[in-house]
Amino acid sequence: MKSINPELPVVVTGGSGYIASWIVKYLLEDGKSVRATVRSLKDNSKIQHLLELKEKFKDKLSLFEADLMLDGSFDKAIEGVELVIHTASPFFVAGVKDPQKQLIDPALQGTKNVLESCNRNSSVKRVVLTSSVAAIYGDNIDSLQVPNQTFTEKHWNTTSSLTHQPYAYSKTLAEKEAWDIQKKQSRWDLVVINPSFVMGPSLSKRMDGTSVEFMKNMLKGVFRTGVPDTKMGYVDVRDVAKAHILAGFTPEAEGRHITSSEVIPMLGVAKIIKEKFGNKYSVPTGTLPKFLVYLIGPFFGLSWGYTKNNIGQPLHLNNEFSKTNLGLTYRPLTETFTDHVIQMERSGLL
Ligand code: NDP
Repeated sequence: MKSINPELPVVVTGGSGYIASWIVKYLLEDGKSVRATVRSLKDNSKIQHLLELKEKFKDKLSLFEADLMLDGSFDKAIEGVELVIHTASPFFVAGVKDPQKQLIDPALQGTKNVLESCNRNSSVKRVVLTSSVAAIYGDNIDSLQVPNQTFTEKHWNTTSSLTHQPYAYSKTLAEKEAWDIQKKQSRWDLVVINPSFVMGPSLSKRMDGTSVEFMKNMLKGVFRTGVPDTKMGYVDVRDVAKAHILAGFTPEAEGRHITSSEVIPMLGVAKIIKEKFGNKYSVPTGTLPKFLVYLIGPFFGLSWGYTKNNIGQPLHLNNEFSKTNLGLTYRPLTETFTDHVIQMERSGLL
């Protein structure tokens, strides 16, 4: 049970990211001061939207340079604050060449690095960590091993590795490390947000994030011949941002939180877009037979292992705890996908 002083700044790591940008915006709109860390203060293409927020909210927003791989990098930003929201971590699943260097090291070292800064700064009372449902389960087929075939916060991903689903492995290692470090002290507590696939409007025009890339591919006809018959949980980026803030400021908040609106097949995303936008975009209208996914999947970053363990498999995620412990409510996915497409159109990204 921790009460956070609302007058003190809140640190948001990876402030220029897709999810973090909404956290920063909502905190500012709520009257809070924010210290957002970014990898480089010189990279305007990544931080332009934060500079605009800074213009609007003046000295309520400060930007700090910090890199996950540099020891002590976060010390300055964390000095004197009570609440740290740690979102920074590399998120990509396609085109991974060196999973250790590109995913595991920054996720794991970065988490250690941020939490060691929290240990060094005696003001810190609570850390909110952005983990993922990828730390709960690795492949859909794993659900056959759990009661009611439904994943809850009790479950941990036991099947991902450096060579199979390395992003999921990076999130699992990082979250476990966070709990280990937290348990060695009693000053700050840890509240974890485990989102499913995050979609919805972006505050920036960046196109390098996995969520934004997925929508771009969907709209630009990359999947026009069909999508794999695979189910995923989806959640609105604005709800995920609110979950982090509720996790930070709800005194009794504790534990992990599956943060997911609904599980739908990939084709369901296309159906929603087609219903709203008609034939404007060449979205897929059918699913690919599994043998074809084996054949062409590798060109889209889907390994044979992924296809074997996910295509045609069930998936159920229990999001009850996020509603009862945090009081989170979820927008319908129709709104999420519609707003995402409209934002990309308005930003001239299509
Ligand atoms: P983004 O790629 O938009 O954000 C990732 C952030 O991490 C960026 O701010 C990036 O900085 C920062 N980062 C990466 N490497 C480093 C580094 N070495 N040093 C400092 N900062 C670094 O992705 P999302 O917003 O989608 O993801 C944010 C978090 O949410 C991640 O932890 C991700 O695992 C998690 N998540 C995301 C989901 C999704 O569907 N989007 C689902 C579940 C969890 P820079 O701006 O400089 O690139």
